[in-house]
Amino acid sequence: NQEKLSNPKKTIEIIQKYKFNFQKKFGQNFLIDGHVLNKIIAGANVTGDDMVLEIGPGIGTMTQYLAENARQVVAVEIDANLLPILDETLKEYDNVKIIHGDILKLDIRALADEYNDGRPIKVVANLPYYITTPIIMGLFESHVPVENVTVMVQKEVARRMEAGPGTKDYGALSLAVQYYAKPYIVANVPCNCFMPRPNVDSAVIRLTCHEKPPVCVEDEHLMFRMVRAAFNQRRKTLVNALSNSPEITASKDQIQKSLAIAGLPATVRGEALSLEQFAQLANVLSGEL
Ligand code: SAM
Repeated sequence: NQEKLSNPKKTIEIIQKYKFNFQKKFGQNFLIDGHVLNKIIAGANVTGDDMVLEIGPGIGTMTQYLAENARQVVAVEIDANLLPILDETLKEYDNVKIIHGDILKLDIRALADEYNDGRPIKVVANLPYYITTPIIMGLFESHVPVENVTVMVQKEVARRMEAGPGTKDYGALSLAVQYYAKPYIVANVPCNCFMPRPNVDSAVIRLTCHEKPPVCVEDEHLMFRMVRAAFNQRRKTLVNALSNSPEITASKDQIQKSLAIAGLPATVRGEALSLEQFAQLANVLSGEL
């Protein structure tokens, strides 16, 4: 284990040997904590049958752990300067394929086809935080075969993904994520687990994809427009937030009537509604339009 990159000495040795310069724009903070890495592997439920897509392997720290637990690892890294390093740090593993590229431009379905016969894959990622949410939502919305996604995010983002109705963290992100997956926070990760240290604390969240949506919605787009409208003005009643919103074409009368039909109080706020209630209201409102 002394030779593993989770040992900070080994990480420093590699960084110095290759004169590697950390790039902020790529969010390069490498994990240097074996406990956290073990928690991620266990949290992602990685087994010897799995193909794991790792997004952003860096110098290969998590990749080493994944390679020891999965059948096949496919790791996509954008920074060409890391490729010779990955060659060295992963040379002992014959089940790792490194792809040089930008995950946002890659055909993930084609990777699942090639490396996993089109069966659902597991995704593990520790990425620049500003692209994490778009990547997760992109994966969900494109219906690529994915069993679960285990990602490092800012602690606050993990809380928002996991939050339920009536809490301060509950919002459009909670509903968007929970429509597609069941969230579970696997580990809290303080900033001293990384090199260099980021200035925020992080958490690892596992999102287990639903086999079918947990609610039945006729018009998903309408429901998510309603969700956004509700939380853009979360202090307002739902009726006012929806009728003020440029995204919702329904009249105030139609909205009030729909609320009554859905059995919701006239003064309710969006933050009190569960996913099921948003779905039900969207179904009633689309009938009114
Ligand atoms: N997984 C490693 C670890 O935990 O130590 C490194 C994580 S580091 C936070 C993020 C990595 O993602 C960097 O290696 C960075 O170059 C890479 N990266 C950033 N944007 C990317 C993109 N669009 N596609 C693929 N890799 C990306």
